[in-house]
Amino acid sequence: MPSQDPANAPATAPDGAPPQAPALHSRSIPRDGHVISRKDISPNALRVLYRLRDAGFGAYLVGGAVRDLLVGGDPKDFDVATNATPEEVKSLFRNCRLIGRRFRLAHVVYGREIIEVATFRANSDDGSGDRQLHEDGRLLRDNVYGSIEDDAVRRDFTANALYYAIEDFSVRDYVGGFEDVQNRVLKLIGDPETRYREDPVRMLRAVRLAAKLGFRIDDATAAPLPVLAPLLREAAPARLFEECLKMFLSGHAVESFLGLERHGLLAVLLPETAAALKANRSGALRNMVLEGLRGTDARVAADEPVSPAFLFAVLLWPAYCRALMALQAQGVHPAEAQRRAADRVTVHQLETIALPRRFSLPMQEIWLLQARFAQRKRVGRLLAHPRFRAAYDFLVLRQAASAEHAEEVRFWREAQQSAGVAAGDMEGDGYDADPDAADGTDGADVPESTAPRRRRRRRRPGGNGGSGGSGGQPGAA
Ligand code: ATP
Ligand code: MG
Repeated sequence: MPSQDPANAPATAPDGAPPQAPALHSRSIPRDGHVISRKDISPNALRVLYRLRDAGFGAYLVGGAVRDLLVGGDPKDFDVATNATPEEVKSLFRNCRLIGRRFRLAHVVYGREIIEVATFRANSDDGSGDRQLHEDGRLLRDNVYGSIEDDAVRRDFTANALYYAIEDFSVRDYVGGFEDVQNRVLKLIGDPETRYREDPVRMLRAVRLAAKLGFRIDDATAAPLPVLAPLLREAAPARLFEECLKMFLSGHAVESFLGLERHGLLAVLLPETAAALKANRSGALRNMVLEGLRGTDARVAADEPVSPAFLFAVLLWPAYCRALMALQAQGVHPAEAQRRAADRVTVHQLETIALPRRFSLPMQEIWLLQARFAQRKRVGRLLAHPRFRAAYDFLVLRQAASAEHAEEVRFWREAQQSAGVAAGDMEGDGYDADPDAADGTDGADVPESTAPRRRRRRRRPGGNGGSGGSGGQPGAA
C-alpha cells in the first residue's frame, strides 16, 4: 500500500508541478566539465566499478566520495551504486559478503578496505518490495529496489546524490546537486520537515557536513532544525553515539559544536551540558569545551590518535561541574559528591547517546583525577595511574581555558620530569586495554550505511578512524 509520506510521491507529478517531491532535472556533466579524475579514486573501488560494468551492469561511484572529490577533498570511503541486486554482486566477487537487514548491502573486501556496493533503492512501494514506515514517519526498513533516479531522490542532501559513471566518466545529477556543490550549499532533497521526520539523524548530518565541507546550510533546510530538534530523542542512542564520533573526531569538532548550538540541537543532544553552559555566565566552561575541541581538531589534523573517552570528558565536563556543585551545596562530602556527580551525568546522558562503558569509565576517571591533582598527595601513585596522562592533559586544558590551574599544571609537569616521565612516553594510556571492551553497546543497532567505516584511510597511515585511539590531547609537553 502506498504510504502517506509525501516523500514517497512520484518524483514528477503528471501535471509537472510536484508540491513536495523534488522535480527531476536530469543532467550529465561530461568528463571535461568536472574535476574528478580516476587517479583520485581508490584502485579497489575502480576494480569493483569495472567488473560490474563488464558484467553489463550500471556502475557508479556515489555519495560522499563524489561530493568530496568535487570539492577537492580526500574521501574517507568509496561507495558504489549499481542496478545489480546484492545477490548478483555477490556472484561477481569472491571477496564479497552480504550484510544488513534494514538495508541490504554488498561489501567487497580488499584487506582493510571495504567497498560498499548498494543496489539502487526506490521510495515508492507498490507492495512488492520490502519497505516499512513507522507511524511517526521514520523509515524502519528500506529494501525496495529502483532506478538511479529513484535512488537519487531518497538520499539526504543534493550534494550527496551525485553519481560518477564509470562507463563515460561523467557525473550524473538528478536533483541539482552539482550546482549546489559549486555554490557550496547543503540542501535537503524534497520537503525538509518530511525528510527530518523520516530520519532525525539527518539534522546532525546537516550540521556535520556543513562543518566538514565549509558549506552553508540552505535556509529551507536550516529552518526546521530548532523546531524538530526534540525528534533526536527518538533516534537510536547507539547511532547517535556513532554520529557524535563522526561529528567530533573527524577534524571539524569546533565547527560542528558551533553548528549544534546555532541550530538548537545541542540542548537535545547534550542537555545537561547545554543547561550548564547557559547557567555559566562567565563563559569559562564554554571556553574550556571549545579549547578541548580545538585540541581534538589539531590532533586529527596532525594524524595523532584521539579518544572518545577524552572527547566525552570534555563535552560533559560542564554537566559534571554543575552536578558536583549542586551535590556539594547539599552538604555531600566532596569525594562522594564527585563519584555521584560522575555517575549521574553518565546515566542521564546514556538516555540519548549510548556511550559504551569502555569509554564512560575512563571518562569518569579523568574527572575524578582532577580533584587528586589539587591535593598533590601520593604523587608517585598518581603518576603511575593508567589514566594519569589523559587526566593531566585534561588539567592542562582547564588551565588553558581559565588560567586558574597554572600552579597545579606546573607541579605535575615537574613531578613527571623528576620521575623521568617524558611527554609522549605514556602514549598508550590504556583506553584500549579496558576489559570491558566487549560490552555489546558499541555499534548495536547502527545501520551499516551510517556506522563509522573500519576502513583504511587513504594517505593517512595510522589513522584510527576516530573510534579507538589512546592519546590524550596536545599541549601536554
Ligand atoms: P562522510 O564523509 O561522513 O562519509 P557521507 O555523505 O559519505 O559522509 P555516509 O554515512 O558515508 O555519509 O553515507 C553515504 C551516502 O549515503 C550519503 O552521501 C547519502 O547519499 C546517503 N545517506 C547516508 N545517510 C543518509 C540518510 N540518513 N538519509 C538519506 N541518505 C543518506
Ligand atoms: Mg561516506
